Order: sequence, then C-alpha cells, then structure tokens
Amino acid sequence: MDFRWTEEQELLIQSLEELLQREAPETLMAELDARHEFPFKPWQALADNGILALGIPEEYGGVPADITTLTLVCETLGKYALPLGIIYSLGIITIRDIIQFGSEEIKAKVLGGFVRGDLPVALGITEPQAGSDAAAMKATAQIDGDDVIFNGQKMYCTLAKIAKYILLMTRDAQGTNPYASISMWLLPTDTPGLRFNILNKVGWWTVPTYEVFIENARVPRKNLVGQFNSGWPQLMANFEIERLALCAASVGAAEAALEDSLSYANRRVQFGNPIGSYQAVQHILTDMAIKNENMRNYIYKVAWMMDQGQSVRHEHAMCKLYVARAACEVTDSAVQIMGGLGYMMDHRVQRLWRDIRLMRIGGGTDEIMYNIAGPQLLKHARKS
Ligand SMILES: Cc1cc2nc3c(=O)[nH]c(=O)nc-3n(C[C@H](O)[C@H](O)[C@H](O)COP(=O)(O)OP(=O)(O)OC[C@H]3O[C@@H](n4cnc5c(N)ncnc54)[C@H](O)[C@@H]3O)c2cc1C
Repeated sequence: MDFRWTEEQELLIQSLEELLQREAPETLMAELDARHEFPFKPWQALADNGILALGIPEEYGGVPADITTLTLVCETLGKYALPLGIIYSLGIITIRDIIQFGSEEIKAKVLGGFVRGDLPVALGITEPQAGSDAAAMKATAQIDGDDVIFNGQKMYCTLAKIAKYILLMTRDAQGTNPYASISMWLLPTDTPGLRFNILNKVGWWTVPTYEVFIENARVPRKNLVGQFNSGWPQLMANFEIERLALCAASVGAAEAALEDSLSYANRRVQFGNPIGSYQAVQHILTDMAIKNENMRNYIYKVAWMMDQGQSVRHEHAMCKLYVARAACEVTDSAVQIMGGLGYMMDHRVQRLWRDIRLMRIGGGTDEIMYNIAGPQLLKHARKS
C-alpha cells in the first residue's frame, strides 16, 4: 500500500494552492458570497491555468488525468474556495456524460469552451414531483421532423441561467418502463421558451440554483446526447464520480474548518488561558482531525478503485453517506469552537457550515445512499 502522491500530483496541487491563494483569496470569496455573485474571475483563472483541461480529451484542448488526480483537485478547491469545488464537482457529471455519449459536433461545441472557461453544463434532472425518485420526471421531448420540442418544469437546476447549456433529461410519453423511456439532450439556455426563477437558498450563495419553466422550446434533433431512451443508464454512468467529487470538495471544506478551529483555539484566551489548553476543546479538535483523516482515506480509496476499473457501486454510496455527514459534523464543531464569533457572518466557518449542509441532500440524499448501499452489501454477502 502506497499513500504517497505522484510527483506530478504534488506539483499540480502545490501550484493550484498558489493559484487559489492569489486568485480566490478568502476576502474575495467572502465578498462574492455576501453579494451572491458567481466567482467568474476565479473560475476563469482555473481555465487560464489549465485546471479545467484536466481529464478532457486532448483533441478538445484537454490533458489526461486519472480520477485520483481529479479528486485531489476537488479537495484543494474545496479547501481554499469551496464554491469553486462545488461548481467543478457539478460539472464533472455533465462534462463526462458529454465526453462519453455526445456526438462529435456536441463534443466540439461544449468541451473546448469548458477548457477555455465556459461554465459547466447545468444538469436538469429534478422536477417538483421527481426528487429522490428522479425517474418520475415528466418533462417531455416531442420529435417534430428534424427538431425536438421540450415541455415541462425542472427544479433546483444549478447554474441553469448563467451556463450556456443544460443537460436536459426528458421522458418519452409513449414509454411504459420509466427507466427505459428517458433521454438526454443538450439544451442551449438561450433557446426561446425557457424561463428561469432563481431560488433563495440557505447556502451556496455564489452558485445560483433555478426553477426552469420549459414551454415549447425547440432545438435540432441532433442535440440528443447518446441514444434515444437510454438516458437513464447514461446518467447513472457518471453519478458515482460526481458524488466522489462532491465528497472531495466537502473534505477540503472540513480541512479548512479544522485549520480555522486550531488557529482560534491557540489564540482565544478565556479564564486566563488559550481555550485550546482545555481538554474539552482538545477532544473536539481531535475528533475533527480523525474525521478528516477518515474522510480523506475513504475518498482516496474510492478514487483508486475507480482508477483500477473496479466497481464502486456500494462503496461510493457509503463514502458519500459518511463524508457528507462527517463534513457537516466537522464544520458544526468549527462553529462551536469559535463560540459567538463562529455564528457571525464575518467569519468563514458559518459559510462552510451553511454550504456543506447541502451535501447530505444534493447528489442523492443520505437516505438514498443507504438504499443504494444496503441491498448491494446483502447481495455481496449472498454471493460469498
Ligand atoms: C441547492 C441544490 C442544488 C441542486 N442542484 C441540482 C441540479 O443542478 N440538478 C438537479 O437535477 N437537481 C439538483 N438538486 C436536486 C437534488 O438532487 C434533490 O434535492 C435531491 O435528490 C432530493 O430530492 P428532493 O429535494 O425532491 O427530496 P425528496 O426526494 O422529496 O426527499 C425528501 C426526504 O425523503 C427522503 N426519501 C425520499 N425517498 C426515500 C426513500 N425511498 N427511502 C428513504 N427516504 C426517502 C429523502 O431522503 C429526504 O430526506 C439540487 C438541490 C438543491 C437543494
């Protein structure tokens, strides 16, 4: 077993850390958060410095990168500028779906733009009546000659209005099997017939999320991504890596929360001593450090398994369940260690705490992770 990173990974992460400290300092991220503004300049800096090219095929301007390396990138983004980690993680699923299933024309249009700094393609799965039960979606795609016409409503569609495209999931009204009548499309967000309503969230203030109303939105039929009515298995193909990426960004945030807590515990004096000298505080800090170590080990193991081509069907769900909860606990502990200051809007731990809470819901809730992992564990036990 070798826990070391490669020399290339060491260099990459070191240069990314320097880049983030320069282009996405905490003061800027705090200001953007307060103003609910998307981090356009830091995102462009990631593109300008080759970070967005990682894992994209070379013919579209990309650079080969394995999943472990992408995981390290997400973790680092999460630590220095969590919104960038969130945006990058959301993009991983749509961009990989396009790499894997998109036509040459779609790939040329989307991937080169992403490498140069376009926002990720937004993902349009969830609808008001179809959340955890995503296959209950009702948005339709009706073929009309060389075109297709979309109707329906998407819910919680992050980045939808500011991205160039939505990867839209629709149902074939004729299909009887809910999983075998879903298709995936590339929908330009300037298509007539789209209306966006921004949602007011507890966290993720720099990463906007929308309700999208779709009324007779017409695009060429060649905007189909992959095969007609194969959208569900196509979508599932990259969910595991999206969840891993969200976990990695969460681990980064938990590391930032621990750093802030350690520094504060050494500085803050009460009853004549730094609060870190009290064992009760040391215990909280030690528990935070153990959770961070466990989370990190878990994401690296899942990334390594994926790089080896191994199935992570239940591991990725257990990892998401564990990491999302542990990261919430660590950021909550950071608020506790900082006392009243932790609850004030001018320190970042409140932001980490608010932003991380979504990780137990987005990308599949805790309960759905149990539902994925449990049956798989039982199935494995029956086989062995
Ligand atoms: C900020 C934000 C950003 C998002 N971004 C996107 C995006 O970009 N694209 C997109 O398509 N979606 C997005 N989502 C949607 C997200 O994936 C869903 O919110 C999530 O899957 C849960 O669906 P729901 O909110 O409808 O909750 P529900 O499915 O209604 O669940 C409510 C509760 O019931 C539980 N539950 C449901 N079914 C079961 C079951 N069978 N067993 C046990 N418990 C169950 C859930 O775990 C949860 O606790 C986003 C959501 C948020 C809040």
